[in-house]
Amino acid sequence: MNNKISFSPGEDFARKLDTEDPLRRLREAFYILPDQIYLLGNSLGLMPRQAAAGVERIVDEWRRMGIGGWLGGSPPWFYLAEKTGALAAPLVGAEADEVICTGTTTFNIHSLVGTFYQPRRERTKILATALEFPTDIYALKSQIALRGLDSGKELILVEGDEWGLVGEDKIIAALNEEVALVLLPSVFYRSGQLLDLERLTAAAHQKGIVIGFDCSHSVGAVPHHFDRWGVDFAMWCGYKYLCGGPGAPAFLYLNRRHFERVPALAGWFGSIKEKQFDLSLDFEHAPCAGGMQVSSPGIMAAASAAGAVETIRQAGIDKIREKSLRMTSYLIYLADQWLAGEPYSFRVATPRERERRGGHVALVRTHEGRRIKEALALRGVVSDFRPPDIIRLAPSPLYNTYGEIRKAIQHLREIIASGEYKKLPRKRKPIS
Ligand SMILES: *Cc1c(COP(=O)(O)O)cnc(C)c1O
Repeated sequence: MNNKISFSPGEDFARKLDTEDPLRRLREAFYILPDQIYLLGNSLGLMPRQAAAGVERIVDEWRRMGIGGWLGGSPPWFYLAEKTGALAAPLVGAEADEVICTGTTTFNIHSLVGTFYQPRRERTKILATALEFPTDIYALKSQIALRGLDSGKELILVEGDEWGLVGEDKIIAALNEEVALVLLPSVFYRSGQLLDLERLTAAAHQKGIVIGFDCSHSVGAVPHHFDRWGVDFAMWCGYKYLCGGPGAPAFLYLNRRHFERVPALAGWFGSIKEKQFDLSLDFEHAPCAGGMQVSSPGIMAAASAAGAVETIRQAGIDKIREKSLRMTSYLIYLADQWLAGEPYSFRVATPRERERRGGHVALVRTHEGRRIKEALALRGVVSDFRPPDIIRLAPSPLYNTYGEIRKAIQHLREIIASGEYKKLPRKRKPIS
């Protein structure tokens, strides 16, 4: 099938897409929720069988070996974070020792920005956007405050346009000699817009600015080429498209030209591995991404993440991206067909160009989005709502089907036509 496939709305067509899908068997590698259409691959991926097997293996090793598992486990627990990082490296176009499975996304922002943000003379500012996931901004503000500086002055947030998007041109225009560091997302969590990381990296470097990316919303769905692009550093979440499990450890990438940099947040698990148990009071960081580790890794969670990454690697990231794009194109096509105009009143907020789209689709409805999302849930379609007006649908190329996408959009249409959402309470839950 070529990329410019023309869709049609019938059920037969969805079935044809599923039959011809080269990744259709991958669904069997996951625990699928019965009677649900799970479209939240960008929030918490479903459980891969290999992730469950990884956790079970550690439970068993701990039971049988106690502390012996650190060197006697297979693989030894002592090297599991490195091994899991190496497994993930091809997903982001990095060498094995440039990626480590460690910490959490926000923690890794702290450790990497802490290491790379070196305000000097005129160059004191950090540049980000106003569309970012809040935790990234909280972390940047506290990093600035830790230097005794005022984040009101030193943090530049590039504003989005009236559609909630931000063009690379606008970001590049804001790069000046006062900017020390840039942190941007690969894919914006609301709109699903994908940035051109290669172009932004080149533009930042041309002006002598260090640049890093939060790729939480793209790794596992979109290929990356960090080495080729020359990205300085990156971090991403383990539980979204990567399916590592709730609260899974995150990952970080450190370009090897920075291996000698002393980590801002030192801890004994960042030591050169052969020297860690010398227990010297002088910290010697491992000259690799692993040097950024701080504490003992959570072994069960790392084993879960490793199993999940193996599942994804078997499928191949280029094939995954191809299917993801076809799925989101199909979803957008159906939304245009069935949800535009009165009384449906949905608008697709995600860019329509393939190269500007991540793995999820944002549907905007200026009113009643939250109750419509609740009505969808009652019909077994799992999505989420991001105030004030976005319903996000993330078909995972790993386990969703085209038939499910079609059904979900059909449910949305029926929910509006029947007005059934109007009977639901307006109260929001602690997690939406
Ligand atoms: C999901 C996500 C996070 C998650 O942060 P944690 O520290 O792992 O809770 C951070 N940033 C972005 C952009 C995300 O999408």
